Amino acid sequence: MTVDLFKEKFGYEIDGVWFPRVTSITALASGFYFLKKGDIFGRRFGFQQAALWGTMMHEAVGKILKGEEEQFDARIMVSIETFRQWRAQYPFAIRNPAADIERRVLDLERGYAGTIDIVAEVEGVLSIIDLKTSTSVAKEYGLQTAAYMNAYNAMESESWRMCKKRWILRVDQYAECLGCFAKMREKYETARVTGGNGLCNHQWSGVKGEIEFQELKGYEHDLERFFDLKERWEWTNREWLSRIPNYEKNICHPALL
Ligand SMILES: [Zn+2]
Repeated sequence: MTVDLFKEKFGYEIDGVWFPRVTSITALASGFYFLKKGDIFGRRFGFQQAALWGTMMHEAVGKILKGEEEQFDARIMVSIETFRQWRAQYPFAIRNPAADIERRVLDLERGYAGTIDIVAEVEGVLSIIDLKTSTSVAKEYGLQTAAYMNAYNAMESESWRMCKKRWILRVDQYAECLGCFAKMREKYETARVTGGNGLCNHQWSGVKGEIEFQELKGYEHDLERFFDLKERWEWTNREWLSRIPNYEKNICHPALL
């Protein structure tokens, strides 16, 4: 890997200064950190395909929220319909769709940047919403969203404009066995079956959508853990970071230049 590739993969350049990306740091907690594009391990478990699925869903949901309707990929239609039905019922309002979807945030003081999926009023409270297409809500989502909320609020001077809550919006789809209730998901390279009875001669239902909207509690604690992880990430990548002249820390500490 070259320094340029490292910079592109793990951070953002903002006004000429390079900052690590929140998701690069939290990947250290997820166990997928050492998966690289083209890894045999990654291919075998279909993570690349799952990442592509996540990208398709993020694009589609972003467009729907901005009112830019179009024909979406047929594979994600069930998830999209599930999302639309949920959105029609749930008290969820986006103040400024142009700014509040895929919103870039930067904490200059702590030195990191990220992109928030959605900033919205949820039941009247301004909140960070992160969209996930995983099969469950993973623990590192707390760290990720705490980092976003901290950076968002660091950029706001007025308290009424600050975010107060964090939510995970998880949208998934699967077919279910009519006999043993095993679930099959096709967002990986090969269909993945979980649960149920391994000896069953599965009879699959049509594809069903599933949506979960979960508030994450314990912001202060999550944020502390994020900063701990960030230090670990910086240590793990110290060789690379020392070779990035416009890395925020290298600029702030001229002795390291
Ligand atoms: Zn079955």
